[in-house]
Amino acid sequence: MQSSLNIAKFGGTSVANYDTINNCAQVVINNPNTKVVVVSAAAGVTNHLVLLANTSLTSQQASEIIEKIRVIELAILNELKNPSEVEDKLFALLDELEEYACHEEINFRDDLKDALLSMGERISSLLVAAIIREHGYQAINFDVRKVLRTDSRHTEASPNIEDIERLSAQLLAPELETAIVVTQGFVGADKAGKTTTLGRGGSDFTAALLAEALGASTCEIWTDVIGVYTTDPRITDKARPLAELSFEEAAEMATFGAKVLHPATMEPALRQNIKVFVGSSKEPEKGGTWIVRDCKHEPAFRAITRRKDQVLVTVKTPKMMYAQGFLEQVFHIIAKHKLSVDLITTSEISVSFTLDNPPNSMSEKINKETLLELSQLCEVNVERDFDAVTVVGNNMHSEAGVSAKIFAAVARFNLRMICFGANVHNLSFVVDKNDSTDVVKGLHAALFE
Ligand code: ADP
Ligand code: ASP
Ligand code: MG
Repeated sequence: MQSSLNIAKFGGTSVANYDTINNCAQVVINNPNTKVVVVSAAAGVTNHLVLLANTSLTSQQASEIIEKIRVIELAILNELKNPSEVEDKLFALLDELEEYACHEEINFRDDLKDALLSMGERISSLLVAAIIREHGYQAINFDVRKVLRTDSRHTEASPNIEDIERLSAQLLAPELETAIVVTQGFVGADKAGKTTTLGRGGSDFTAALLAEALGASTCEIWTDVIGVYTTDPRITDKARPLAELSFEEAAEMATFGAKVLHPATMEPALRQNIKVFVGSSKEPEKGGTWIVRDCKHEPAFRAITRRKDQVLVTVKTPKMMYAQGFLEQVFHIIAKHKLSVDLITTSEISVSFTLDNPPNSMSEKINKETLLELSQLCEVNVERDFDAVTVVGNNMHSEAGVSAKIFAAVARFNLRMICFGANVHNLSFVVDKNDSTDVVKGLHAALFE
């Protein structure tokens, strides 16, 4: 059953320092329905942790990175009105962080990597709760691992929805009676209690999962932009914020690169019809975007997204002309290695598909073993340095003139791959990474300006 409960999630830039956390506290207090606060690690901290987890570093190099994290966290501690209240806990967490970072097997064991990666959120939730208390409100720091049950796929864990619902009802819901609960995004634990993480940017997903488990009616994603825009405002200053979006449009945008939402965020929202709000914790008075089931308008063109660092894999075999089951074999290998294919095109004798490989991600998506297995089956060609650009909208396959307008805008670019028609919500291009900014700008000018 849905209540008036609201879950508020604050991203890395929102919890970057004492002043920005104060803005967050004010946002929380302004909405009496906000009982659960989900926080990310302070800006930059997870990138430092990824570096410690994935790179073989000298102890001097590791110490320097750990020191950078300490500086960020201690700056917040030192501005607290009553630092002694959380000081011991913070120092213990920083020691724990150092212990994982300096573990001799840190680069080889994914369970240790997750324990290390979780530290940013474990620290920021301690500090955010303390700052909400400074405003005169009861707030506790709740260990999300008690309720956010996942499988054991470290660094890219999947949630177990039923367990999360059961555990939240038992352990989290009672806490909401007496205090504002501040908890960690991105972090979970498997059945054995081992720490897991949900993949980069996963705090949005945590907020939506907890909203679902607790029967919340709204979930707010507070970030550094005043909503979801027609395209990433960092690409063009012509981008403009959208008042409303449908779940499907938002899911499509997130999947195809709108970093403002983690791609899985809309799944729980869709299942339970939870309205999702996106706004800026720095300028909450500017409003934001509401993502809802039924939108007033469903325009042919809603937004343009870019997903960077695409790897284009082409598998080719003359056998395909005769042999049935070639695609099945290819996808069997892909599924076995748990790769998620984004875009795909096929011809008589070849199949091309994209995988993504963003910097700071925890795993190299296309690895040697996958390539080896594929090459036993067919000829394999791997090309890098591509971005995918996607136009997100509605009924794109059935409206006359839609594709003509899009293709006219990108006529001067070399389109390495085009995907259209499998879904009414998108049309995607794979382009050279050096062209993608101009492709987005050109499309934006043609479709929105
Ligand atoms: P947080 O740390 O709060 O989770 P993120 O950096 O993950 O924030 O996401 C916010 C960023 O997403 C914005 O600063 C913006 O550059 C980027 N972004 C990409 N596409 C869009 C879009 N369509 N609308 C708004 N922001 C976008
Ligand atoms: N701190 C994690 C990251 O940077 C999760 C998040 O911010 O959503 O990926
Ligand atoms: Mg994010």
